[in-house]
Amino acid sequence: MNFLPIFLDLKQRSCAVIGGGEVASRKVTLLLEAGAQITVYAPTAGETIRRWAADGKVRHVAQEFRPELLDGCALVIAATDDKTVNRQVSDAAKARNIPVNVVDQPNLCTFIMPSIVDRSPVIVAVSTGGSSPVLARLIRARLETLIPAGYGRLAKLVVKFRDMVKQRFTNPTSRRQFWEEVLQGPVAELVYTGQDAAAEKALQQRIEAVDGSQVPVGEVYLVGGGPGDPDLLTFRALHLMQQADVVVYDRLVSPAVLNLIRRDAERIYAGKERDNHAIPQEDINHLLVRLAKEGKQVVRLKGGDPFIFGRGGEEIDTLAAEGIPFQVVPGITAAAGCAAYAGIPLTHRDYAQSVVFVTGHLQDGTVNLNWKALVQPGQTIVFYMGLHGIDTICRELIRHGMPSSTLAALVQQGTTRNQRVLTGDLKTLPSIVDKAHVKAPTLIIVGDVVELHGRLKWFEPIAEDQASSD
Ligand code: SAH
Repeated sequence: MNFLPIFLDLKQRSCAVIGGGEVASRKVTLLLEAGAQITVYAPTAGETIRRWAADGKVRHVAQEFRPELLDGCALVIAATDDKTVNRQVSDAAKARNIPVNVVDQPNLCTFIMPSIVDRSPVIVAVSTGGSSPVLARLIRARLETLIPAGYGRLAKLVVKFRDMVKQRFTNPTSRRQFWEEVLQGPVAELVYTGQDAAAEKALQQRIEAVDGSQVPVGEVYLVGGGPGDPDLLTFRALHLMQQADVVVYDRLVSPAVLNLIRRDAERIYAGKERDNHAIPQEDINHLLVRLAKEGKQVVRLKGGDPFIFGRGGEEIDTLAAEGIPFQVVPGITAAAGCAAYAGIPLTHRDYAQSVVFVTGHLQDGTVNLNWKALVQPGQTIVFYMGLHGIDTICRELIRHGMPSSTLAALVQQGTTRNQRVLTGDLKTLPSIVDKAHVKAPTLIIVGDVVELHGRLKWFEPIAEDQASSD
């Protein structure tokens, strides 16, 4: 983080604006909205500033800048078109430890002004750290369309009833759930359509109707987190991650996806590396039951899809047996994600008419796959967890009649910025894994469709990890 976002209370505080042109007046507008006492220092001021000065909204002092003018100020903005003056203002402010912003000269600033979505008292501030004001404005425009205009009035309604709700709901989890329902339900809709009095009445009725001391029944959401790229999450997954009390997640869930979990949700790492389970499966099942019984909204977050090699079935089996309500949210499975981002269609009229997903996690090295069923013409085979058994996999496929020249691809950390795609054939694949130090998670795709990678590859990111080591 290059800048710490904070919100300043400037009511009745003296702020100095150096410069009196149109740019300065735009900054003055913002300071006025924040209730600041503003003095504009400029030998000559533009029309807007002169008008505001005449109306008594700001004080205009027609004189050149001198460092002592800043004494006692809470905040300074320099908006002159004279670079020397701007620098003097910056130096003088820094010497006095006063936050200073110099318009369009980020190197002279100690704070920068964000793009703002104003639904007072709700304020959304967007910053790109000065790297692209245009991008910040575009983000702001999107937020404007996402945040209903009535949000400010909704926030005021919440303030009005906050103490009452606090008294009524002694259990904090119940209280939060109550507010979540109110802010997403009919009460909010009434506010958005301008029916504030009706909204207030509806909210009052809701508060009176509930017994707030009861611990609510929790619920478990078994959520597929997709293969890594956070943009591949479903809306539903994101929504649940944003309102969870606790998230129990696996090693496979990417950091970028974890970043989207509600900030104050509890996070529990449930591990699962090959043969090195951080928490044994049975304990995870019971953990979910216990958390739900405490009244929590639990998200069980898994890589990919929870029902494809994710042991999701076992986890909800325990929940079902204990009578805990649950829902399942599908995710994009590694096969779909890796194939798409590697430019390898899993089926193709000219190459493959069927595709099978199999686990290559061979128990104790013993081979218990139905090799005959796998070795079929016109079929793509996708191996999950196949890295460890790569020698056996290639050998057995050849032994059961697959040409050793059959193409195969390794997709490591598919869909992420660290994605690597390596191709070879059944003969060469094991040595490629060795030489290129291929690591988990890696998906193996075997079949003629791999030929298409050369023509259809499109996603070639610059790996984040490699920046410093190469
Ligand atoms: N439920 C998951 C699969 C869990 S099994 C899903 O639907 O995707 C774990 C295996 O999935 C890994 O060993 C690897 O083979 C594969 N995998 C998961 N994410 C991957 C990724 N981003 N890139 C490559 N392989 C991945």
